Amino acid sequence: MVPVSSSLKSVNFFLYKKQHSLTLIDAGFDNEDCWNALQTALTAHDLSLNDITQILLTHHHVDHIGLVNRILSEHPVPVYAHPLSVPRLKRDDDFMAMRVEFFAKLYQEMGCGEQGEKQTAYLQQALEKNRTEKMDGEIRTVKGNQLLDFDVLYVPGHAPDQIAFYQKDCQWLFGGDLLLEHISSNALVEPDLEGHRMMTLYEHYQSLKRVLGVNADVIFPGHGMLIENHKALIQKRLDGIGRKADKFLALIEFGSTTAAAVAKTYYKETYIKQFSLVMSEVIGHLDYLELQGKVQKEMVSGVWYYSA
Ligand SMILES: [Zn+2]
Repeated sequence: MVPVSSSLKSVNFFLYKKQHSLTLIDAGFDNEDCWNALQTALTAHDLSLNDITQILLTHHHVDHIGLVNRILSEHPVPVYAHPLSVPRLKRDDDFMAMRVEFFAKLYQEMGCGEQGEKQTAYLQQALEKNRTEKMDGEIRTVKGNQLLDFDVLYVPGHAPDQIAFYQKDCQWLFGGDLLLEHISSNALVEPDLEGHRMMTLYEHYQSLKRVLGVNADVIFPGHGMLIENHKALIQKRLDGIGRKADKFLALIEFGSTTAAAVAKTYYKETYIKQFSLVMSEVIGHLDYLELQGKVQKEMVSGVWYYSA
C-alpha cells in the first residue's frame, strides 16, 4: 500500500508467495514511492526482485502497471493480462487512434460541444506523449478460468479488461478496482475492439453482483483498505447506482435532455474539472435507466436526446 494524496488514498499491489512461486499482482505507478515499497516488501520477507516468477495484471490502468517495464528490464518474467489489455498496454497505433475518434464522436453525440472538443484535443496530445509508455516484453493473455493458483473472474466495468484473482483455499480475492472500501469505483466509458461503446456501468453492476456470490474472507483492492465484509459493501454500491440513476431520471424529467445537460446540472463546475469521469458516470447511469425501460433516447441532428 503506497499512500497517494488523491481520493484513492493508496495505490496497492501485492506479492503472493507459494512454495517457489512468487507472484506480483499489479505494479503500482511508475515512480520511486512504488519502487521503494516493492523493494521494502521483498526485503522484509528475505526476497528480492529475482524471486518474482510472474506478474498478473488486474487491468491496464496506469496506476496498476507502472513498474512492469522497470521490473522486466532487471528481471524478465511472464506478464499475464486479459486479451483486451493488449492493444492498450502495447499502445497499438490503430487502436489508440480509433479510441480518440470514438471519444470525439461520443462527446458530440452526448451534446458536450466545445468541452468535448477540448477533451478530444487533450486525448490526441496524450496519444503522442504516451507513445513511449508502451509495455515491453510479451504479454500472455488470460483466457480460461484458472491461472496458476487462482480462479480467474471476469469483472469488467471499471475497465473493459478487468479480471480478479480468487485464491479459493484462503478465500482471498484480488479484485483490482472492482470494489473499493472508501469510494465507489468508476465505470469508465470505453470502446470495444471494433469501436463500439461498451455498456460499462451495466457491466460493472453485473460484475459486482457476480462477486456478491463469491465467498471471500478478504478482498485485496487496488486502492484503500482491505475489505472484510464485501457482501454488505457490494449491496451498498448496487443501491448507490440505483439511487444516482433515479436522480438523473428526475433531471431528465425537469428538462435536462442530453447527457451533457444532466452532467452540467448535477456536477456543476466538476463537469469542467473532471469532464471525462463525469461523462462516464452520466452516460453509464443513462444506459442503466435505458436498460430498465425508464428512459429512451432519440437522435436529432447528431445528438442523443433522452426522455423519461
Ligand atoms: Zn483502474
